[in-house]
Amino acid sequence: MRRVYLDNNATTPVLPDVLEAMRPYFTERFGNASSIHHHGQETRAAIENARESVAQLLGSSASEIIFTSGGTEGDNLAIAGLVAAGDHVITSSIEHHAVLHACKHLQDAGCEVTVLPVDGRCLIDPADVRRALRPNTKLISVMMANNETGVLQPLEEIGRIAAEAGICFHTDAVQAAGKVPIDVKQIGCQALTISGHKIHAPQGTGALYLKKGTKLRPLFYGGRHERSHRPGTENVPGIVGLGKAAQIAIAAFAREDDTKMAAMRDRLQHEILKVIDEAGVNGDGTPRVPNTSNIHFDHIEGESLVIALDLKGLAVSTGAACSSGAIEPSHVLVAMGLRPDQARASIRFSLGKQTTDEDIDFALSLVPETVARLRELSPAYKKQVITT
Ligand code: PLP
Repeated sequence: MRRVYLDNNATTPVLPDVLEAMRPYFTERFGNASSIHHHGQETRAAIENARESVAQLLGSSASEIIFTSGGTEGDNLAIAGLVAAGDHVITSSIEHHAVLHACKHLQDAGCEVTVLPVDGRCLIDPADVRRALRPNTKLISVMMANNETGVLQPLEEIGRIAAEAGICFHTDAVQAAGKVPIDVKQIGCQALTISGHKIHAPQGTGALYLKKGTKLRPLFYGGRHERSHRPGTENVPGIVGLGKAAQIAIAAFAREDDTKMAAMRDRLQHEILKVIDEAGVNGDGTPRVPNTSNIHFDHIEGESLVIALDLKGLAVSTGAACSSGAIEPSHVLVAMGLRPDQARASIRFSLGKQTTDEDIDFALSLVPETVARLRELSPAYKKQVITT
């Protein structure tokens, strides 16, 4: 059976070149990077090369990169590491739970947290950020690209507000990295999180950019790894894989692969909306990463559509992978003002570097007929057809 994977915001396959780069570090190059002998020096050099590549992807210097176990750790390290009891944090209602739950934990530990709303296009208003500032505001944490809609936030404006107020700015760039160019200096942030498995590196890898001179409390205590910001023997194969994936992403921008991906995504979206009525793109008309399209197909249950498409070989998602299976509609789509039934009727298509035009054709051959079949079975749709 043919299988097409359009759920790359949940995770991406490790690219063959990434796997090849990692392979020796599972076998003959096994040293502990803290050892002073040949074996240790070999892996130390590999880690420092990877650090250079990740720094290049983000426009930082290598010494500002801390390797982590992924996006969740990077977000938690930045948030818990930059504030203390009594401080005030500003974040948004559409953040990933790695940020929202970290902020909730801070609140329980004596911090004040303001959660900003978004408008119907999934955008935060920078004026709301400015209005939320207090004398004890220590950190603003606003994501770069939303994982469900792909919408890009006005980070440079928020960065300027943070700089004027002299407070730290962290951004979760997990869904932006490798999809849009990132320059930490242009954003004006002190901390930025990325995750390896969203950019075709292995799961359980990631990095936190931390601007030189920014004081950070670690989550773990141990040795001096990662300049004591993240103690623990390094995951060398994973770090090498992340470095290789960063190099591949940089080369892809030079070839303008992102423009080609946006064209594929736009064709998928356009052809679907041409033949299916009462459907629309969530976050339409705003800058989005080139790989994501979140579409509401009114009168059906998104979960039913995901299952029906999966049975035919197409993998898509109802939103964040970690909240799939939960009965609650997506907190992002609800924050955008979608009705709960519309939020539940929404599907996320997300492309990856392995996605081809044939994959899009395959999706187009399945989605309209499956939506039509589910609507025929939907009492809500029938009732509406009869009454109009
Ligand atoms: N932040 C965003 C925006 C995400 O989409 C995800 C994962 O879906 C994470 C953080 C968590 O990253 P990880 O799975 O590497 O822990």
